[in-house]
Amino acid sequence: MSTNIDGTISVPAGVHLPIYMDNHATTPLDPRVLEAMLPYFTEKFGNAASRNHSFGWVAEEAVEKAREQVAKLIGATAKEIIFTSGATESNNLAIKGIAEMYRERGNHIITQVTEHKAVLDTCKRLEKSGYRVTYLPVKADGLIDIEDLKRAMDDKTILVTIMFANNEIGVIQPVAEIGKLCHERGVIFHTDGVQAAGKIPVDVNAMNIDVLSLSAHKFYGPKGVGALYVRRRNPRVQISEQINGGGHERGMRSGTLNVPGIVGLGKAAELAREEMDSEMKRLAGLRDRLKAKFDGALDYIHINGSMEHRLPGNLNVSFVYVEGESLLMGINDIAVSSGSACTSATLEPSYVLKALGLGDDVAHSSIRFGFGRFNNEAEVDYVADKLIDVVQKLRELSPLYEMVKEGIDISKIEWQAH
Ligand SMILES: *Cc1c(COP(=O)(O)O)cnc(C)c1O
Repeated sequence: MSTNIDGTISVPAGVHLPIYMDNHATTPLDPRVLEAMLPYFTEKFGNAASRNHSFGWVAEEAVEKAREQVAKLIGATAKEIIFTSGATESNNLAIKGIAEMYRERGNHIITQVTEHKAVLDTCKRLEKSGYRVTYLPVKADGLIDIEDLKRAMDDKTILVTIMFANNEIGVIQPVAEIGKLCHERGVIFHTDGVQAAGKIPVDVNAMNIDVLSLSAHKFYGPKGVGALYVRRRNPRVQISEQINGGGHERGMRSGTLNVPGIVGLGKAAELAREEMDSEMKRLAGLRDRLKAKFDGALDYIHINGSMEHRLPGNLNVSFVYVEGESLLMGINDIAVSSGSACTSATLEPSYVLKALGLGDDVAHSSIRFGFGRFNNEAEVDYVADKLIDVVQKLRELSPLYEMVKEGIDISKIEWQAH
């Protein structure tokens, strides 16, 4: 790869622009998953709840096979898997369903500040109906402190919901320890496992997980389908249904099953399980390659979140003294996410990065790189060269960066108000 005479980076063979490196937001469908799904849109279109004819039986058989495939991915049994429309629904069903079912026992729920909005907003909603919610802080590395969790538990605590792996900074919470603590105290442990399931080993028994949410489109399956694992023994967890109707999914989630989607989820789970070991190594290799290139070429970069307890396919970097929006504009042929919640009109910096203690400026200058099954080394090299080039050019224009290089302590400067 080289820099052209006009200063642009040339595109090497094997790299197609734009490059997709936002695999925490969604992943492309694996062609093998599509192939498995296709018959269930056409000739095998039956309703899995139709008991009187072969169209129904064929659909039901496919659903039950998928249930086995999903169960196997997380060390569960098929009867413990409930199909849903995705992890937003799974999180809502788990948290509201448990809160309602165990209301007599207590009204206290514990979660943490860097959860996905599907958990945080569900907890906020429950606060309005009389539940008490503790939002644990995280340390600078993005992990919760187990001692904080112990202190937060009281005799009214019914549920702990702590995510397995974070979707922005990729940090992996100590779920096995959390689960053990919950089981010692008779508290139900739910985890939003969306970024972990299909990516890293998950074993609901070894980790004492009682309820787990997952979503097909985060591991090369289709959008609009997910699952909720609900433990059946030691302890048997009960969940009150949030959608009423025909009593599908053992009464926990009514509605005609999305058979093609469920078949896709099952196939995606099978592939993820079979290929996990090699995929984890390959993605960690791509991630470390990108990091090494940044480390070799740039100063004042900051890795957000623990490197030790981290998903193989995640890197979240702040390019300090670079203005976030200019940075994004400079890399418009690369699909990544930034530390600014640009979807909102307010341009608020990410609440996850702020929870780590980052200032607004540093949070705005952050980029999340999410590596996936279809990324390759040539892409990583292109992305590295491009980022380094853009960051260097922006810093040449940055008076702050210049002052820092000259040894001026910019935190002591009193800026003149205009
Ligand atoms: C994507 C995501 C969700 C939401 O999943 P959907 O299936 O898209 O509703 C929930 N939690 C985490 C951590 C996620 O990354």
